Amino acid sequence: MREAGKVLKQYFGYDSFREGQEELVESILSGQDTFGIMPTGAGKSICFQIPALMLPGITLVISPLISLMKDQVEGLNQAGVHAAYLNSSLTAGQYVKALGFAKEGRYKIIYVAPERLVTDGFLDFARQADISMLVVDEAHCVSQWGQDFRPSYLKIVEFIGKLPVRPVISAFTATATKEVRDDIIDILLLQNPKVVTTGFDRPNLYFAVQSPKDKYASMKNYLELHPRQSGIVYCLTRKYVEEVWERLQADGFSVTKYHAGLTDRERKDNQEDFIYGRSEIMVATNAFGMGIDKSDVRFVVHYNMPKNMESYYQEAGRAGRDGEAAECILLYGGQDVVTNQFFIDNNRDNQELDEVSRRMVAERDRDRLRKMTFYCFTNECLRDYTLRYFGEYGSNYCGNCSNCLTQFENVDVTETAKGIIGCVESSRQRFGTNVIIDTVHGANTAKIRGYRMDANPHYGELAKVPVFRLRQVMNHLQLYGYLRVTADEYAVVKLTENSGAVLSGEETVVMKLAKEQEHPAKTGSREEKAKKNRRDMAAGFSREEFTQQEETLFERLRALRTEIAREEGVPPYIVFSDKTLVHMCVVKPATREDMLTVSGVGEFKYEKYGERFLLCVQGEV
Ligand code: ADP
Ligand code: ZN
Repeated sequence: MREAGKVLKQYFGYDSFREGQEELVESILSGQDTFGIMPTGAGKSICFQIPALMLPGITLVISPLISLMKDQVEGLNQAGVHAAYLNSSLTAGQYVKALGFAKEGRYKIIYVAPERLVTDGFLDFARQADISMLVVDEAHCVSQWGQDFRPSYLKIVEFIGKLPVRPVISAFTATATKEVRDDIIDILLLQNPKVVTTGFDRPNLYFAVQSPKDKYASMKNYLELHPRQSGIVYCLTRKYVEEVWERLQADGFSVTKYHAGLTDRERKDNQEDFIYGRSEIMVATNAFGMGIDKSDVRFVVHYNMPKNMESYYQEAGRAGRDGEAAECILLYGGQDVVTNQFFIDNNRDNQELDEVSRRMVAERDRDRLRKMTFYCFTNECLRDYTLRYFGEYGSNYCGNCSNCLTQFENVDVTETAKGIIGCVESSRQRFGTNVIIDTVHGANTAKIRGYRMDANPHYGELAKVPVFRLRQVMNHLQLYGYLRVTADEYAVVKLTENSGAVLSGEETVVMKLAKEQEHPAKTGSREEKAKKNRRDMAAGFSREEFTQQEETLFERLRALRTEIAREEGVPPYIVFSDKTLVHMCVVKPATREDMLTVSGVGEFKYEKYGERFLLCVQGEV
């Protein structure tokens, strides 16, 4: 295994493997099919790139997105590895040329789009080539249960069947649910695969949920407090993207946008503006991001609640891939639930499914939406909630999420709970959450009168409790099984076997609720605490403790990086990550040897531009 460690240092400049990496590399090298499930940012690419460099033949990497291929190939080329991609972004001429080079054996690693696999030209090459390994990246794309099912991924098995010798197959994904996992193994016909799952926790990410009255104002305030940082703002619809983008631009922010309604050209340009740092903030729908490897994203703000936890964790996870502290803020609004519900009810993605499957998918989606909503309402540790969702056990205090950093108190909400449960019971379990809440609150609307809920014995019983609190209690009751909601499209609130105990007074319901507005001094100390936590998080070295001189040095190194990136025609983070620059400021290397100890400085990169960084450091010290 010392060999793999050497390759890691020489090409990628890293001293040690992260959790799971060595096991995956070893398994592939031993010739066994291998399946790696790791969260975004954990370092999946290295797990197949290192064996690719060590195996005798070529490695093919199947990847769904053009931008991802481009990014990875650029990264490899900068590290001194011969790699290429074959996809629709190449002209016919370029494609033929690249394939020609591939035939000559010029590339060690070739990224290929799944649609290309069974084309004549590619097969012709693949049948004669010495292929040691086939990597299926973003492997969840084979599963209809997954987020991004791609029919073209089903061609992979057909392709493997056409090869004279079956290579080692490895598959990687960040999606962990069991259905998807099983699907990947079954559909790709992995043979007795070694499965490695690493923790889903991303300790460097801070998670927060806010329900501001004015989302825009609150986001603007956040952005003003985080100047010159790269970040993504996710919105649920194109309309929101346009609106938010326009307002941010009018307010003088460096901002661009991305959604499916733009032309290919616009999307490409805007994406590059963001990646190359010409625009600091990207406002986008979920169409943006898959395959975006930008490692220095410092925050991801969700302007709307996404449709499920899988999407949320994937999108939020685009922050802080370099391991430095980053923040994930979700701005919740009641309308978000309605919009998502609408998408589920009008989903056209599953046209080819039969009626029964379609209904099952819709029910599953509603259930997922509900769990996403609970995330926005829980007062427990957000990280813990997320990890539990993905089947892991966290500790129930992380110290780096908005709930862990909020002062809570235990509040007895039994009376409110009784009113709500009583209302469900007396209306014979026929209504959804909104009708129940409006009834106990005593809303005088046509809908309530239409259902005659104004004659319900609990009508107006909780008029003094604010609606948001009623909603919190309603969610709490569902989360802890005192009530449940049907999974069909009517989402009717039903009693459970636990409801009776609350009504009869046998059981009290206690909820953790945020303490009323604290005085400013205390808020300050909370911020301090968060800051300290984040500092502890960032593996040993952090910019927050920089002296003025180190700060200046960092800015110089960053300018040099931009200059080199421009010369090389690659994004700055492909030259060196922020983390590498921070480490450089701490180490202040004076010699080649010193420089090679900096995390992320490999030999090839050192030969290319290490000297210039060395001079820059020396000029400053
Ligand atoms: P994933 O594909 O799992 O989302 P990447 O492969 O893009 O993650 O890796 C995320 C970041 O972590 C990259 O900047 C990568 O260079 C870095 N990285 C990967 N492995 C290591 C390691 N062993 N030591 C330090 N950094 C690493
Ligand atoms: Zn927490």
